[in-house]
Amino acid sequence: MKRMKRVFHFAFAFLLIVSSCISVFSVSCPVVRAEKSYNQLISEKKSKENQLKNVKGELDRIASELSKLDKQTSSILVQKQKMDDEYLAIQSEINIYKDLILIYGDLLGEYETQIDTLESRIESGTMAFLALMKISQTYSTMEKLSYALSSKDFSEFVSRTTNTTDILDYDYELIQSITNDIADLEVKKSETEAVLNEYKSSYREQVILAAVCEVRIANATSLIFEAEADKEKLKELQAEEERTNAEISAMLVSLNKQIKEKEKVLFSGDMIWPLKTASCYISSSFGYRSDPFTGSTEYHNGIDIATYGSTPPVYAASAGKVILAKYYGGFGNCVIIEHGTSNGKTISTLYAHLTSYSVKVGDKVKLGEQIGKVGTTGRSTGMHLHFTVYSNGTAVNPLNYVKKP
Ligand SMILES: [Zn+2]
Repeated sequence: MKRMKRVFHFAFAFLLIVSSCISVFSVSCPVVRAEKSYNQLISEKKSKENQLKNVKGELDRIASELSKLDKQTSSILVQKQKMDDEYLAIQSEINIYKDLILIYGDLLGEYETQIDTLESRIESGTMAFLALMKISQTYSTMEKLSYALSSKDFSEFVSRTTNTTDILDYDYELIQSITNDIADLEVKKSETEAVLNEYKSSYREQVILAAVCEVRIANATSLIFEAEADKEKLKELQAEEERTNAEISAMLVSLNKQIKEKEKVLFSGDMIWPLKTASCYISSSFGYRSDPFTGSTEYHNGIDIATYGSTPPVYAASAGKVILAKYYGGFGNCVIIEHGTSNGKTISTLYAHLTSYSVKVGDKVKLGEQIGKVGTTGRSTGMHLHFTVYSNGTAVNPLNYVKKP
């Protein structure tokens, strides 16, 4: 009998060792694809709200850049309009000067032709006059004539021959008159030349001004093009940000709806021990412990309830909705039930290492409803239930909620 007792104790100790587990590596809320937990929804909402804030900030920045560019563009456009007007005025000045230069050039040519004509008339007149002079030599005083004929130029000759003879008076007066006409024309010619030169210089000035104006207009035009290109880019960016804004806003609407739905469900506060069998014991408690695999200190986010190698049914600790039911890494076959909120905190429970589970995501379960069987799937060293209680996504000691009956 004593020997039997010792064997039993040995077996018991052995079971104790093998049933401990390392079921939890991460204390954060497990990722659920089919349905998000309340805390996931809340954290997603926060992240989306931050994203939205950034997007709105970016949209504000783009809007202010656009308005700055608009102001710049319209100011450049006003300046360019002035330059265009100025350019047109210069062009019309240039055309006026062109016309004046042509007119005065023609006039100058006219005077030159007239002078040429008169000069040739004088030349022929002078020849005739000299011929007459030779003929009249016999009727004139030889001394006077020789004096006149020794003149070094025509005007001297004219003065010397004044009153020389009556016969020569008429021709002399004619020549004198033509000479005066030529002198008048020369004056007019030089006046015209002076005016023409002024017009030419003004024309050149205006041409230079027009060239300067053209450069300035080209610069303004390229500035406007650059601003327009920048505006196009900004508008593309704006459209993209607005799409993102709409997407995030829609996501937030959906998230808020889901959160409200979840908040409608209140945690009753009732929670029972998840096993009904008496053949079980807590093989590993909540908190820091020695890892049964590595021996190093590790955080254990729930309690392990060992079942002496048997696979009794596992029951929902409280009423709720199944948000995860699948093989889940180190947890093995795993079920998570969300029970609703209590004082703004959402309560959920996790059941791990199950042999099998009999619920699926979205199922509503009652308190004490069977959800699966104890097992040793995942990272486990023996038949046991790993049981975690989450309050707002943080694992808390399950013994604060349940007691082994
Ligand atoms: Zn465990």
